[in-house]
Amino acid sequence: MARKTLLAWAAILLILIVSYSFCSNNTFTGQNLSRNDLEYQLGKGNIESIFVYDNGDINGTFHDHVYGKKVFKSHVHPELVKELESKIASSPRKLLYENRPSTPSLLSVLFSWGPMLLILFFWIYMMRRISGSGSSGALSFGKSKAKLARSEDRNRITFKNVAGVEEAMAELQETVEFLKEPKKFTKLGGRLPKGVLLMGSPGTGKTLLAKAVAGEANVPFFSITGADFIEMFVGVGASRVRDLFEQGKKNAPCIIFIDEIDAVGGRRAFGFSGAHEEREQTLNQMLSEMDGFESNEGVIIVAATNRPDILDPALLRPGRFDRRVVVDRPDVRGREAILKVHVKKIPLADNVDLGIIARGTSGFVGADLANLVNEAALNAARNDQKTVEMQDFEFSKDKVTMGSERRSMFISDKEKTTTAIHEAGHALVALFMSNADPLHKVTIIPRGMALGLTQQLPEEDRHNYSKEYLTDQLAILMGGRCAEEIILNQQTTGASNDIERATEFARRMVCEWGMSELGPQNFISKEGGPFLGRSLTEKSRDYSELTAQKIDEEVKKIIKQAHETAGKIIKEKMGALKKLVDALLVSEILDGEQIKKIVGI
Ligand code: ADP
Ligand code: ZN
Repeated sequence: MARKTLLAWAAILLILIVSYSFCSNNTFTGQNLSRNDLEYQLGKGNIESIFVYDNGDINGTFHDHVYGKKVFKSHVHPELVKELESKIASSPRKLLYENRPSTPSLLSVLFSWGPMLLILFFWIYMMRRISGSGSSGALSFGKSKAKLARSEDRNRITFKNVAGVEEAMAELQETVEFLKEPKKFTKLGGRLPKGVLLMGSPGTGKTLLAKAVAGEANVPFFSITGADFIEMFVGVGASRVRDLFEQGKKNAPCIIFIDEIDAVGGRRAFGFSGAHEEREQTLNQMLSEMDGFESNEGVIIVAATNRPDILDPALLRPGRFDRRVVVDRPDVRGREAILKVHVKKIPLADNVDLGIIARGTSGFVGADLANLVNEAALNAARNDQKTVEMQDFEFSKDKVTMGSERRSMFISDKEKTTTAIHEAGHALVALFMSNADPLHKVTIIPRGMALGLTQQLPEEDRHNYSKEYLTDQLAILMGGRCAEEIILNQQTTGASNDIERATEFARRMVCEWGMSELGPQNFISKEGGPFLGRSLTEKSRDYSELTAQKIDEEVKKIIKQAHETAGKIIKEKMGALKKLVDALLVSEILDGEQIKKIVGI
């Protein structure tokens, strides 16, 4: 065991000893009698037993009937012991009396030190367990906790269960080949990879991919998460790593999957703390295990992280996690493919168009999509349907993105009308802007924090926005407030989110995207570092006060322009708007086609 670990254990022991002796000094809960009290009690015959030591220390117990066998202690001057003995002899009641030499007997030493020794033995025992020797039995503290999953052929996870991450799958195909036929590769003197690092956001399918690799190669799959290594006690993690690798070698060829490796493999920081020390040791153990075993043994470590940036560079050195695979968020086509995988298990209605769902779920990862399909199926079951229909998917998509519907929320007719006018305003402007995404649906059913919702559906995922697109989007955002102003001559708080988003867009157009008269220049305030005497929240600005004013003016101009555009459309198409409001009040939800029909285009 490392010297540091021993030191840490020694420190724990020391603390225990100190706290024990501290306690034992205070464990006497009986009475402390003065000499006079003692003589008084003796005279009364209240004392049942008394032990007198040569040095004058006295302890004993009272009679049951007096204070319920309570213990007491006392002290007399050694010269007075003889005198006390005669008092004891003349006590009116018979009592147990013993005179003892002042050095405590072996028995009493054992008695007072026994618990201490027990604790000591227990700790030694634990230490030996943890250091790995004699690792059988119930107290498997240093065992790895890794879960073995060797699935039956029937429900084995393979690449068929994974979709939308083609690049990652292609890269892992090679790993599968290694595991299947290691000889084929080593024959030519090649070195097999030891570690594969999967990097990607949570829910993109990293665990799934690792399982699929094991499934494809038909080898056992051990999984553990980085946090499992870290325990309260220094040294436990390291021994768990050792145990994990031992298990792996016994079951080779196999895959060991370490989820959230950043919990152990985060960049080593300065400073000393127990947790830090523990992590450091665990990481070191992992590094030395990886260096120590031959990849030809057929154990491949697959680790996953969503924070590759904080990983200790030592982990990425050759011979360790030298294969790195990025698991991206899926694009539209990827999302459609993932949906296809997950709807295999449920009966679909004919009207379900997975392509449309994929288009409306930009930013969703595999786990979100699996969840979406599940929610849709649950909703269909709730309504006693035989198949899962498109509206179930719409329902679950909105639930996932916006929160649950709040049909039970009480809304007065007046409020409902206001919401209908607001949403109709958004929808109408969206319909007449030439660079906007097509209208998908409008609803006035409250959901999450929103009273209503107007949704557009991009044809493709958007990664790049033109100025025209943004300008149109701003006008659509203003449409809600505008309609309220024009029809009801009122301003409500319902537009606060629209205003917030519009302001952010406009500001970024000016400061980041160079889409204003200030030209293509970046005006973002940089976060000041914690150094240079600046506080973390303070921002540094490297442009003049005059420029700051100009930025504000430009932002104002852009928003004003958007507001005017929206107002113009709403005034021109007032008839269509009113029709839309009435239809919304009746059916509460309208899709793009219905809206077009109502408006007459
Ligand atoms: P990660 O490990 O990246 O956090 P998981 O592999 O645990 O993500 O994904 C959780 C679940 O989401 C999987 O069990 C699977 O049902 C679904 N899933 C995630 N990504 C995909 C994908 N690319 N293809 C199919 N299903 C996926
Ligand atoms: Zn709005």
